Amino acid sequence: MKHHAIERGDDERINRTASIPFVLVHFLVLLSFVTGVSRAALILFLALFWGRMFFITAGYHRYFAHRSYKLGRGMQFLMAFGGSTAAQKGPLWWASHHRGHHRYSDTDLDLHSPLKGFWWSHVGWILCDKNKDWNPDDIRDFNKFPELRFLTSHDWIGPWLVGLASYAIAGWSGLVFGFFGSTVLLWHATFLVNSLAHVMGRRRYATSDTSRNSALIAFVTLGEGWHNNHHYYQASARQGFFWWEFDVSYYILKGLSLVGLVHDLKTPPARVLAAARVRDGSFDEGMFKAHWARATQALANARSSRPHRGDDLSDADPEVAGRREQLDELIRANRTALQEHAQTALAHAEELARLSRRQQRQVGVAD
Ligand SMILES: [Zn+2]
Ligand SMILES: [Zn+2]
Repeated sequence: MKHHAIERGDDERINRTASIPFVLVHFLVLLSFVTGVSRAALILFLALFWGRMFFITAGYHRYFAHRSYKLGRGMQFLMAFGGSTAAQKGPLWWASHHRGHHRYSDTDLDLHSPLKGFWWSHVGWILCDKNKDWNPDDIRDFNKFPELRFLTSHDWIGPWLVGLASYAIAGWSGLVFGFFGSTVLLWHATFLVNSLAHVMGRRRYATSDTSRNSALIAFVTLGEGWHNNHHYYQASARQGFFWWEFDVSYYILKGLSLVGLVHDLKTPPARVLAAARVRDGSFDEGMFKAHWARATQALANARSSRPHRGDDLSDADPEVAGRREQLDELIRANRTALQEHAQTALAHAEELARLSRRQQRQVGVAD
């Protein structure tokens, strides 16, 4: 049995039967070898990948989950519908679960922390019965729109329409490679933000989670790879905080705001950008917690892998056995003491972070 830094709950298990269609879609793409890939299918593939990526990042994520800008009701519907064509469930499901990720990042309540296992954070959590439904209380602000509730409970409409249109435009090749191919790639590119963006890359800001900034992930997700920036200041419509942090979704949103289709794009104030930098020695609570969780698990594993009393140790050296017993006792005592110290330090750090955030917000408002 594999141990993770954070153990998953008993209800956090993949439903294998219900996952079959998801797995099958991956194999469907292999039919491209039979249908071939026409020029039209290739264009469709690129358009559907990048186009739907925009609806997911700018729409589902930055608008519905984080309200980082404003839209009229028509544009709001368009964003919701566009996102629903990506076959990542409906807008209310997506955004409410994502809000949960931010509320409980990298704790046992986080739906998809890589501390619960890399594949779990990438795709396992989606294939788990526990996460099938969505809680309207987590998204009251958008739950009041009947058209969004409809799109969420009928989340098959978008993908089916795009699938049929792909077939109409470019035949079987259009459906197999253009639609299914781009859908699979779009899934895994999006999922990278939940998995790899919490594992690979650099941390600029000290946050209470393990988020990182990665140019590679930012490239395949139109700017979502600046994930440490995003966890640090979620309210921003812009996730690349500096000019070299390319953020295509934001550039498009900016363009749309110039023609009046998008309003009130929020960006971080300069003082927020300069604060909480890891390089300036800010206490990096998120990494501390992650390392601590891993160390605790490693100690627990080391203890449980040692032979137990009653196991056949007849030819073992009694001196060695005695020393093992002694070390075991010492580790147990140290672990308890360390755990207590770490909990106290973390409680203080969390309070300090809360106070700093409050101060920053007040400063931000005054700016
Ligand atoms: Zn987010
Ligand atoms: Zn995250």
